[in-house]
Amino acid sequence: MTTDPKYAILFEPVKIGPVTAPNRFYQVPHCNGMAHARPKALAAMRGVKAEGGWGVVSTEEVEIHPSADIGPSIEGRLWSDDDIPYHAKTVEAIHAHGSLAAIQLAHNGMYAANLYSRLAPMGPSHQAVLSGASEPVQARAMDKDDIRALRRWYRDAARRAQIAGYDIVYMYSGHGLTTPMHFLSPTLNTRTDEYGGSVENRARLIGELITEIKEEVGQTCGVAFRFGVDELKGSEGITWDQEGRAVVEMFAELPDLWDVNIASWANDSQTARFSPNEGYQTDYTKEVKSLTTKPVVGVGRFTSPDAMVSKIRGGLLDMIGAARPSIADPFLPNKIRDNRIDEIRECIGCNICVSGDMLSAPIRCTQNPTMGEEWRRGWHPERIAKSDEPEPVLIVGAGPAGLEAALQLSNRGHSVTIAEATKDLGGRVLRESRLPGMASYIRVADYRLHYLLQRPEVEIYRDSELTADDIRDFGFDHVILATGSHWRRDGIGRAQRKAITGLDALHVMTPDDIMDGVSAKGRVIVYDLDHYYHATTIAEKLRTEGHDVAYVSDAAIVAPFTAMTLEQSRVQASLYSNGIDVHLNREIVGAGANGILTRCPYSGREEDIEADTLVLVTERQPNDALYLALKNDHAATGIKTLTCIGDAYAPSTVAAAIYAGHKAARLFPDFDSDPAEFIWERPSPD
Ligand code: ADP
Ligand code: SF4
Repeated sequence: MTTDPKYAILFEPVKIGPVTAPNRFYQVPHCNGMAHARPKALAAMRGVKAEGGWGVVSTEEVEIHPSADIGPSIEGRLWSDDDIPYHAKTVEAIHAHGSLAAIQLAHNGMYAANLYSRLAPMGPSHQAVLSGASEPVQARAMDKDDIRALRRWYRDAARRAQIAGYDIVYMYSGHGLTTPMHFLSPTLNTRTDEYGGSVENRARLIGELITEIKEEVGQTCGVAFRFGVDELKGSEGITWDQEGRAVVEMFAELPDLWDVNIASWANDSQTARFSPNEGYQTDYTKEVKSLTTKPVVGVGRFTSPDAMVSKIRGGLLDMIGAARPSIADPFLPNKIRDNRIDEIRECIGCNICVSGDMLSAPIRCTQNPTMGEEWRRGWHPERIAKSDEPEPVLIVGAGPAGLEAALQLSNRGHSVTIAEATKDLGGRVLRESRLPGMASYIRVADYRLHYLLQRPEVEIYRDSELTADDIRDFGFDHVILATGSHWRRDGIGRAQRKAITGLDALHVMTPDDIMDGVSAKGRVIVYDLDHYYHATTIAEKLRTEGHDVAYVSDAAIVAPFTAMTLEQSRVQASLYSNGIDVHLNREIVGAGANGILTRCPYSGREEDIEADTLVLVTERQPNDALYLALKNDHAATGIKTLTCIGDAYAPSTVAAAIYAGHKAARLFPDFDSDPAEFIWERPSPD
C-alpha cells in the first residue's frame, strides 16, 4: 500500500551530521533489563525495532567506564575494547534493516554507587550518591586530573562505539543520571573553580565533551546531545529559565542533533494516569527548535500520525522520538507507511515496561507480549506461524487473556468461539478503565476487538456464562478457560494471612463491588495490601463521589509497586491533594469502638479510624471453578485439550494476562510442551 500523502513528511530523510536517517521515526535510548547481561536478547529486540521501520534505533544508556557502574541495574557497558563485539551484534541487527544505530554514552558519576567495580564514586562535589537504594556511600569531588581522565574516557568510548559500527554517538546529560548533568546542577555542583559557579562554568564540561566526541568520531558519526532541559524542581534543580535555555544558546550548533526531554525519568516517562495526552513535552522542544538549526527529537508517547505531522509542521519537532510507542508497537512506522493506521498497537502509558528494568528483569509490555521474547522464544510482534491443522477452539472469558488468545489463534488460522458471561467485552480492562486516570487501559481490549469483531471465523457470544456441563455439551475438542479472578472479601492479603473478623457492623466491600456500581456508605476506609494502582484509584473515585475517605496500608509509602512504574510520588501526592486521609504502617486488626481498629506493626500501638464502609483491596482469588471441574475428566468427556490462562490461573498484571493468552495461542494445541521453558542467556563458562 502507498503512504497517505498527508503522512509523507514523516518519511523524509533527515541529515544528522555525516549520516542520514531514512525517516523521522527515532527510537530514543531506553532501558530494557537486558543490556550487558543479555546481549543476544538485546540485539534481537533492537533488530525488530529496525525491521518495523524506526529510522534510528538507539541503545540504552551505556556505561563508559567502571566508575559509571549503576549495577544492579542492567545497562549497557563499554568499559574496554573487550565490550566492542557485544555492541557490534546489536549494530548488525539494526543495520540489517537499513536503520541507523545510535549509542548513548553515559558516565553516571554521583548516581553510581559502583557496586560491581567497587571504585569510589565521583562527582562535581563531595555529596551522597543519588542512586535509589540509599547506599551509605558518598561521591568524592573530582579534581582537575579526574576531569581530564573523564574527558579521555568519553573519547575512548566514542572511538570504541565507532569501531562497533554505531552511526550516532550520544553525549548524555539527562534524567539526573550523568556527570555532565551533575556538573550543570546548581545544587549538586558547589565548586569554586572554572567548572562551578556561573551557568557558563557549570556547562563547561558539557561543551568540552560534545566538542571532543566530535573531534574523535565526528567525521563518520553524528554526535547527538540528549539534554534534560528542566528538572521541574524549581531552584532545587536545573530549570529551563536558568540553565536549560542558556545551554541551548551556548551550544546551539555544536551537536548534530538535540534530543530534548525533561528530567527525571519519572517526568520524562509520565504515565497516562497523570499525563493522558500525547506530546506533553513539546513546550520545551519548541523552545529548543527556535534556538538551533540542528534537528530536534522529542518524545511524548506519540502514537497518532496526525499528531506527529502537526508537531513537525508546527515547528515543534523534527523527528518523532519514541521509547514506549516503539515498545508497544515496533512496527508503528511501517504501519503508517503502509496505510495501516488502525493496526497500530497503541501504548497505554502504564510503564510496566519500566518496571522490568527497575527490577533488573527483561523488558515486558502490557500491549506487546512479544517484547523481550524476540530471542528467547523467537516471537515476532507481527508474525505467528499458521497452523497446518486449523481447529475450532472455545475460549471462555473475554478479558485480556481470552481476547489475546482468540486474536492469535485466529491469526494462526483457527476458528474461535468466545463465550463471555457479561454483555460487554474486555473483562478487567473494561472495568478498570472506568477508574480515575485509567481510561487508556481500554486500548488493550480495543486493539484486539478491532480485529476479532470483523473476522467471520470468530464468533462471540455475550451474556453467556458457561457451566462445566455447557462446555462438555458443546463438544469442542479444545477449550481455553480465561475466566479471570475476583477480589477477596475476608481481608487476607500479603501482610495479613488470617481473615479479619468482627466486621459485621460495617459495610464491607471489594473493588469488584465498586466497579459494579454498588454504593459505599458514609466514611470509607480503603485498605491496601495490594500495593499497585487498585486501592488508590478506588479511593480517588470514592472521594470524587463525595465520601470522606481514609487510605490505610501496611506499607511505609502509598502503593509501593508504583515506584517501579515511576508513579509513586505522584500517586501519594494525588491522595493528599484529593483530601484523602493517609494512614501508613497500619494493619487492620478488626472492629474498633469507633470504626476500625488498626495497629502499627513496629510499635504495636493501636488506633481507631472512623469508618462506615471498609473496602478491602487485599488479594484476588482465581475464578477457577470451571477449570477444577473439567481438569480431571476432560479427556473422558471428549475435550482433547484444556488449559486455564491469565488471572483464572494465577492473578497478576494485565501484562501477564496478555502474555498468557499469547503464549497459549503459540503453543496450541500442545499447551504443556514449551520449547523455550529452559532457555536463558548463560554467561560464558570461560
Ligand atoms: P484476565 O485478566 O485473565 O483476562 P478478566 O477478569 O479480565 O481476566 O476476564 C475474565 C472474563 O471472563 C470476564 O469478562 C468474565 O466476565 C468472564 N467469565 C468468567 N467466568 C465466566 C464463565 N463461566 N463463562 C463465561 N465468561 C466468564
Ligand atoms: Fe506502553 Fe505500558 Fe507497553 Fe510500556 S508497558 S510500552 S507504557 S503499553
